[in-house]
Amino acid sequence: MDTAHRIIQGIGVSPGIAIGKAYVLNRSRIVVPQTNILDEDSVDEECERFEAAISKAERDLEDLKQRVHPDFKEHIKLLEVHQMILRDRLIYGETLQLIRQEWINAQWALVRSLAKARERFSSLDDEYIRSRVADVDAAGERVLRNLAGREEDPFQGIRERVILVAHDISPADAAQLQFDRTLGLLTDMGGRTSHTSIVARSLNIPAIVGAEQSTRLVPNGEIIILDGTTGRVIIWPTEEEISHYASRQEELENYHKQITRWAHLPARTLDAHSLKVEANIELQEEIVAAKDNGAEGIGLFRTEFFFMNREELPDEEILYHEYRELAELMEPMWVTLRTLDLGAEKLANWFPRLEEINPALGLRSIRLCLYYRDLFKMQLRAILRASTAAKNIRLMFPLVSGVGELLEARKVLREVQEELLRKRIPFDGDMPVGVMIEVPSAVAVADMLAKEVDFFSIGTNDLIQYSIGIDRANEHVAYLYEPLHPAVLRFIKQTVEAGHRAKIPVSLCGEMAGEPLFVPILLGLELDCLSMNPRAIPRVKNLIARSRLKECRRFVKKALERTTAQEITLLLQEIMLKKFPEELRLFELDAVLTDAALHRKMRLGRDRFRS
Ligand code: PEP
Ligand code: MG
Repeated sequence: MDTAHRIIQGIGVSPGIAIGKAYVLNRSRIVVPQTNILDEDSVDEECERFEAAISKAERDLEDLKQRVHPDFKEHIKLLEVHQMILRDRLIYGETLQLIRQEWINAQWALVRSLAKARERFSSLDDEYIRSRVADVDAAGERVLRNLAGREEDPFQGIRERVILVAHDISPADAAQLQFDRTLGLLTDMGGRTSHTSIVARSLNIPAIVGAEQSTRLVPNGEIIILDGTTGRVIIWPTEEEISHYASRQEELENYHKQITRWAHLPARTLDAHSLKVEANIELQEEIVAAKDNGAEGIGLFRTEFFFMNREELPDEEILYHEYRELAELMEPMWVTLRTLDLGAEKLANWFPRLEEINPALGLRSIRLCLYYRDLFKMQLRAILRASTAAKNIRLMFPLVSGVGELLEARKVLREVQEELLRKRIPFDGDMPVGVMIEVPSAVAVADMLAKEVDFFSIGTNDLIQYSIGIDRANEHVAYLYEPLHPAVLRFIKQTVEAGHRAKIPVSLCGEMAGEPLFVPILLGLELDCLSMNPRAIPRVKNLIARSRLKECRRFVKKALERTTAQEITLLLQEIMLKKFPEELRLFELDAVLTDAALHRKMRLGRDRFRS
């Protein structure tokens, strides 16, 4: 095989080298075999097989219903709709009829009756019925899965330490990975700040996403090398390549060990400017990594992952214990609990699937919480009850678009506080409440928002997505995802200034915070806190300790005069080369190189179109 076909270029999203066997996960859509039945007895058998699949789906739905918290009535209703759909004449009756009349297998017959039902439903005037099309699909998929006998756990077959190769891995799947068996992660889809990438980073698994052809090109069971820094994958590596990457792996690990020794000191520049460096975590288990790497608090706890990892909605008691333990484990440091940020790519099994054309612009995050108020209140109750344990919990609302939405969220919080007061259940009345700045409208009214909260935290992952107008998880437009876009830097500056005018601290908790290359910029922008994946803390603290605030301020002034992200990147490269050359050598100019690779890809894409 020639070199060109042995190398795949993707987006390196979690640094580190993995060398090992590829395990290609074949989890595409449900395969629907289309076969003819050859005799009358088999027709009866096929009808019975279909009947059994329907009954199993009914039982599973009933089971799910029993496990849903009674407060969450809407979800129960939805499951009931799915149960009704299963026995609907258009689907149930039609499928049996097709099997009997046309002597075809159950899956084929079901797919055909589903298509017909979908068509019927969509053409009706009744908006309610039209909106049930997605439910028809969901109920049908459940039966198809039963007919195919599909395994629910995609990782079940993994018996040794492997590099997992998949078309896509949902954030919920990623959080369930057995990371002792996962050497590395490679996916066709995704971008640098997609949540799968975030989980890989926090689990410290080298990962590459957006490597479009990987599931097609990587042969199952073969040895591959994955470089999570440069985004390069080598199939069938030579002896020399293996020994080169093995020594690089050792070098990176030694460097990390060396700088981690100093990571427990507070972050402070050479000219005595202090700021906080905190950790972003998704699961309680990551507290160990946060502490080991020198976190000075939890700047972002993505509470939704606890909801995504399970089949059923967790109840208030479970949440209360989870949050309380978290607070006690981190005491006396702060723990920032962000309220549920579900929706878009962050879905849960128990959660009603919404059919949205534009989920990133849809019912997600705080909007979803304000829509499903019982769910929101349940989480707030659990957080408030846990807040008395060590009085170190901070609350943060995500994706707030303006003052109106913030006041509404605060109103719900007040209602829950009043309810607890009435029931004489204690909570921390001084718990700080903050807001994430993640959409341009929030930046525009940051001065107004600042009057209503105790702190800001800038979520650049979303802020970049919404300012530039690109999907953060879409590999095709990943080259446009530019943290150094002048618009993004201006937005950060405006937010910091608005926060400081109102005398509230401003943190940054997007993935940008953990990118060592951006340290000079983030210091110069005068953020009070940087919150990042735990593994990035030692590198970032090391660079902060070797920087001067004065120089960084001058640097930011210069950078803000540049008109493109590329020019700002070059400036950064210059300063890094002068001050921290070993970072550039060790990490192969990571972000910069990745950008260059993506631009090459963009050109390739055009050429392919032309030919
Ligand atoms: C962000 O958007 O920057 C952020 C921290 O939140 P999340 O990545 O969970 O959307
Ligand atoms: Mg966000």
